[in-house]
Amino acid sequence: MVTSETGTDTIAAISTPPSRGGIGIVRLSGPQAVSIASQLVSLRQPLEHARARLADVLDADGTATSRIDEALVTFFASPRSYTGEDIVEIATHGSPVVLELLLRRALDLGARLAEPGEFTQRAFLAGRIDLTQAEAVRDLIDAQTLTQARQAASQMGGALSRRVAPVKQSLMELIAMLEAGIDFAEDDIDVTPQREIARRIDALTPPLAALEASFARGRIVHDGLSLAIVGRPNVGKSSLFNRLAERDRAIVTATPGTTRDTVTERISLGGIPLELVDTAGLRENAQTSIDEAEHLGMRRSREALADAALVLVVLDASQPLQDEERGLIAAVAGRPALAVMNKCDLEAAGPPMTEIGGIPALSTSALTGEGIPALRERIVALATGGAVPESGVLTNFRQHQTISTALSALADSANANASSVPHEMILLDLYRALWALDSLTGQTTSDDILNLIFSTFCIGK
Ligand code: GDP
Repeated sequence: MVTSETGTDTIAAISTPPSRGGIGIVRLSGPQAVSIASQLVSLRQPLEHARARLADVLDADGTATSRIDEALVTFFASPRSYTGEDIVEIATHGSPVVLELLLRRALDLGARLAEPGEFTQRAFLAGRIDLTQAEAVRDLIDAQTLTQARQAASQMGGALSRRVAPVKQSLMELIAMLEAGIDFAEDDIDVTPQREIARRIDALTPPLAALEASFARGRIVHDGLSLAIVGRPNVGKSSLFNRLAERDRAIVTATPGTTRDTVTERISLGGIPLELVDTAGLRENAQTSIDEAEHLGMRRSREALADAALVLVVLDASQPLQDEERGLIAAVAGRPALAVMNKCDLEAAGPPMTEIGGIPALSTSALTGEGIPALRERIVALATGGAVPESGVLTNFRQHQTISTALSALADSANANASSVPHEMILLDLYRALWALDSLTGQTTSDDILNLIFSTFCIGK
């Protein structure tokens, strides 16, 4: 874990992934970054803030004659760097052995191996970024879809903190007003009338409630959702799965019951990361023809159905609805689910339907591709609950919890005010709300929580 001397020592890490690459970077941050770097490489020109310099990487014996690689060395002078400290980045050809040599020598020269996320933690502790921005750095690196990357980039720019700032400002004004009322009550300064307090508390709630609601989409973009594809054997589940995944991942055959196990695939639909789960055919009543493997598959299928956030019930449009399918539809009614009338290309297919047994329905042909774009759109709408993209959204539980706490503290303060308790009591609730908003940006976040957050970063960031 991160030590208490953070900020006083010089840390070093290989910041590029631990494998071969076109380039690899060793990064140093701290008061000795420049002096250590100068002993690792032979610079052809002196270092200058935000300029890259050519240099020779020296072999372990440290003589200029034994060059082991070339490097591009970039220096960022304190306080105008990511961490606020002197930073030196040494970019070499991406050979792990050269990078490890550089790192080992840096450690020999007095640097300490950086903990995961320690560079970003230093940036946070130096006040260069707040906690939501630090979390966004990690999210950007972890992003698996462009939409995730865009969301993270917007948050890295401070979009979330900017959204909270005016609310916090008004809250502090209200607190100051009540504090003044208390402190000077005996000096004839008017105590703020109850109505005015109520008005001000009420005004704080809608922007925070909107922010809290933004978690619905922010979390889905951040975490993704699972989508189970269920239905009787041979209705076209695997074919639809492949259509949605746009590659031949699941085995498609004309023999019922091929998809014995669940197959999963991560895809991005409309920027939402989805984990598709293609399940074995659910055959509730056919005990005879099912072998053991398919039994196992069906169990997984039910588990997938139970776990999935979204469900596609696939039906064969050319066949009458069977009892087990009705049962399946009834089982998912009330959950985010779609009935997919597949094989609509077949002559025997019945007329398109917009609803079956209370769940919305649409027609597709996994064979011809008809209805697939519409299916994609419906899945995205179902996943996001129709929420539109916005900037400055809550993306994780920690952030969501701070806003929920602030809202409940505000509700308590409104109740306290309504029941005419002394202002000291209202202030307790208002301070609780302020504390929650401050912990969103990391101003009042405990060290334990900070350590937990930064430990989820990669080393070298
Ligand atoms: P699963 O058992 O539900 O996964 O079904 P599959 O995806 O394996 O498909 C079963 C059979 O139906 C295969 O022969 C597919 O080619 C065929 N099939 C799947 N979707 C369609 C469709 O939309 N139209 C037609 N005509 N055939 C389809």
